[in-house]
Amino acid sequence: MSLPIVAIIGRPNVGKSTVVNRLAKVQDAIVFDEPGVTRDRTYKPAFWNDRDFLVVDTGGLVFDDDTEFLPLIREQAMAALAESSAAIFVVDGKQGLTTADEEIALWLRQQTVPVVLAVNKCESLDHGIIQAAEFWALGLGEPFAMSGIHGNGTGEVLDQIVGFLPPTDQVEDTPEVRVAIAGRPNVGKSSLLNAFVGEKRSIVSPISGTTRDAIDMLVERDEKKYRLIDTAGIRKKKNVEYGPEFFGINRAFKAIDRSDVVLLVIDALDGVTDQDQKLAGRIADEGRACIVVVNKWDAIEKDSDTIYEYEKLVRARLHYMEWAEIIFISAETGQRVEKIFDMIDIAAEQHKRRVSTSVINEVIEDGVRWHSPPTTRQGRQGRIYYGTQVSSKPPTIALFVNDPALLNDNYRRYIERQFRQSLGFQGTPLRLLWRGKKMRAHGARQSQPSHESLGTGI
Ligand code: GDP
Ligand code: GDP
Repeated sequence: MSLPIVAIIGRPNVGKSTVVNRLAKVQDAIVFDEPGVTRDRTYKPAFWNDRDFLVVDTGGLVFDDDTEFLPLIREQAMAALAESSAAIFVVDGKQGLTTADEEIALWLRQQTVPVVLAVNKCESLDHGIIQAAEFWALGLGEPFAMSGIHGNGTGEVLDQIVGFLPPTDQVEDTPEVRVAIAGRPNVGKSSLLNAFVGEKRSIVSPISGTTRDAIDMLVERDEKKYRLIDTAGIRKKKNVEYGPEFFGINRAFKAIDRSDVVLLVIDALDGVTDQDQKLAGRIADEGRACIVVVNKWDAIEKDSDTIYEYEKLVRARLHYMEWAEIIFISAETGQRVEKIFDMIDIAAEQHKRRVSTSVINEVIEDGVRWHSPPTTRQGRQGRIYYGTQVSSKPPTIALFVNDPALLNDNYRRYIERQFRQSLGFQGTPLRLLWRGKKMRAHGARQSQPSHESLGTGI
């Protein structure tokens, strides 16, 4: 579900950032710097009366001066307003009404977004009402006296704002591919995120995660939507002091758990480390689709064979993820970054894919014909009666057999390979559940431990 956004508008020095900090209950600012813009757009999570929303500081809005970066800031403010459910127009009660305020008000009146007029710097309650009164002239309805520094009057402003937010059950929930960017520190996750959102044609907006500080980002490409999971865990703000565990492995695990497709980012200079294997294990265990993204490929000295040799090394270290595609990229130069989206599309498609029972049974019959299940010394042979896909994300196929103990790991891997060769399932784990007839399974002497599931196999 996406969080509604509230834009804070006003000319410089009226106290916008003070107001934002007063409204934002969570103090770790999430900074999304837009390329080509000298001032960042800052989104902060806020809540009031059980409603969660984001406040975005738009920078000082000036209309009658086009020097330096002012047109850019104005563009930013307009972009921010376009994605907002409501706006707070901050004016300076101490200074009183100015022509710059009138210009902004004129522009705001032409917009469809509802506006709450906040008259800041009104510390004194009695005097504040008088200070605020002259702003009726802006034609934006009732001016609310408040003080960002002292906090008085903010409750009224928030009451008004919350009244303008869309009802929670109407907040749009579009089908989108949920993508987690996972990897050790310094492998280039945030560089990759920047490369993704820096693309001109992608529409980017921050939306709520499941926890208060997990901010997801929505990226649109070719009319397809990608939700980048917990970008707050990727974009660390350098000047905020978090404990080292804050952006650590638990956070990565949580992001993996919420995703469909994981980009497992590996540093080409380090190769696949033990921690990378740990992340890969979690991805496979959770049944997520995965693309192994070997980053910093620009920093590797290479000849024509390097990529193949390197891929072999990666595969050897990630052998329980044989199904994952590998791509060699440079987040810094942008090399092949674009191609990741195509790979995400394929992996996501395969991850949620459903295959009919008749097709699955054709594959089984064919597989058994080429290579029949093993026979024990006592002459008992494994038999597969039939198979059917019982769920997706990841694709899970139940195989009904005479006795799972008779179908050893080798044979199970063979059958999984048959499914992959015939049906694909690129980029996603495939789960096979081996189901025996209960009575027989109990009676049989088990030569092999009977795995309930082959899990992610191979
Ligand atoms: P912005 O540029 O609009 O974001 O404004 P700032 O938040 O940076 O504030 C501009 C100046 O106004 C600073 O010196 C603040 O201390 C002051 N200021 C902000 N809010 C208040 C307030 O509620 N009362 C008073 N008296 N001063 C304030
Ligand atoms: P994160 O901790 O995983 O988010 O990693 P960062 O994105 O902060 O990158 C860590 C370091 O690796 C930075 O110094 C980047 O400049 C560098 N880096 C990231 N991507 C690349 C790349 O594609 N090539 C090279 N040579 N360096 C990179």
